[in-house]
Amino acid sequence: MAKEWLAPLLSTTRSRGGAGLPHPVVRFEHTFESLSTGGHMEHPHPAPAAQGPPRPRGCIDPQSPEHAGWADSERAAIGEVRARLHRLSAEMPDRDRVQLIGELERLKAGAAAAQARLVAAMADEHLGHVKADDRRAHSRVLRSVASQVGLARRVSPARARTFVGLARLLCHDMPATLAALGDGEISQWQATLIARETVVLSAADRREVDRSLARGLGAMGDRRVAQEARRLADRVDEDACARRVRRAEADRRVTVRPAPGPAGCAMARLTATMPVAQAVAAYAALRQHADSARSAGDPRGLGQLMCDELSSRLLATSAAADGPSIEVGLVLTEQSLLRGGSDPAVLTDDEGRAFGQVPATLARRLVRDADRVWLSRLYASPESGELLAMDARRRTFTGRLRKLLIWRDQTCRMPWCEAPVRHGDHVSPYAAGGLTTLPNGAGLCEACNYVKQAPGWSAAVVEDAGHTIEFTTPSGHRYRSQAPPAPGHRPDGPGTAD
Ligand SMILES: [Zn+2]
Repeated sequence: MAKEWLAPLLSTTRSRGGAGLPHPVVRFEHTFESLSTGGHMEHPHPAPAAQGPPRPRGCIDPQSPEHAGWADSERAAIGEVRARLHRLSAEMPDRDRVQLIGELERLKAGAAAAQARLVAAMADEHLGHVKADDRRAHSRVLRSVASQVGLARRVSPARARTFVGLARLLCHDMPATLAALGDGEISQWQATLIARETVVLSAADRREVDRSLARGLGAMGDRRVAQEARRLADRVDEDACARRVRRAEADRRVTVRPAPGPAGCAMARLTATMPVAQAVAAYAALRQHADSARSAGDPRGLGQLMCDELSSRLLATSAAADGPSIEVGLVLTEQSLLRGGSDPAVLTDDEGRAFGQVPATLARRLVRDADRVWLSRLYASPESGELLAMDARRRTFTGRLRKLLIWRDQTCRMPWCEAPVRHGDHVSPYAAGGLTTLPNGAGLCEACNYVKQAPGWSAAVVEDAGHTIEFTTPSGHRYRSQAPPAPGHRPDGPGTAD
């Protein structure tokens, strides 16, 4: 039945000749029933989620304990500094302006050092409650601390974990570097570079590097700081270099992220962090191919040729008739598919992991150009919000329910995380009677899902409109996360989908 409705899209001639690019198989999901009536929907249906004005995805509850307690006087003092900076007049001679710019830079570094001391104290205190040789408990505690730090600093848990590591290194083994940061002699980035170069050393060797490096730190640029830290590390420990190489090679990986800037709506960055010799050889192979294609008269640019060759080689197995097919999934409203609507689609991989939004025009092209297209729908009845094949007593979010969850949440629901959704999580836990339904579901990344199950963490849906979840951390702080406005939803009128 899919064929009939897709005819207008599939009739377009495929442009496969010149580029010779294999097209992925598209598994395409639409959200509403009305495709079964040929796509002639007279009355647009209301969007299933996200009514009301959008609000920030994370905000600290005013009743939370950060507004009372030990930190009161410090908070007041810092608040005064902030208020004074807010009122700062820029009417002064350049000489004074430049001096203040420098002072403010030192203030930022000093704030980073103070944060590092607070973070390290918090981590150490909680690690004190687990056995020193219990590595799993150790990493669970550090993840939980990092997530709390990330929420407080409004950065992703991944960035917060890096900061927790830096804070502990600085506070345990690098008093001179910490002091230089506190005095504003070096920036947080320079402290990070020093920590990176010395992380492979024993604590004693790291302290020695810290002592030697302290002299003259303030006069070095970023590159010099890193070089000097590496040179000293190699001097105190001859094997440090080899360990650094092994550690770096063990960290090889491939990642995909939306391209930065305006290209992010249509392009993504596939990044391989790999051993340097392999990377250079792989680049040379692509370059060689592009050069010979160019001299044979191919009109495409070098960058285009190399990029096309890369995907062509990687996807070669899916292009072969008997090879495994590589799928991408799309979830979008039927207006976007059949009626030229502009609601973006959510792109997923073949395991249903979300990789962000693509514009409707691109979604239509993906469906049109795909080697094969599967079509399915998520809602049996958009009026009732009833899902196809839904069983609220199932233990896990699978199939269409999982896809709808990804379509609604798009990225991890932990405030400021924004990682791709990996898990369908029960907001109210399944073991406590929580149902496997869309309202009780939250799309979370792997790290945030594990953290949410750690002792002291809890979550609840506090507002149905906009699907607002409130996360409570072990320190008692509360943060709210609202689902992004649903595709098809317009703030100026419910259900005016096009
Ligand atoms: Zn997350």
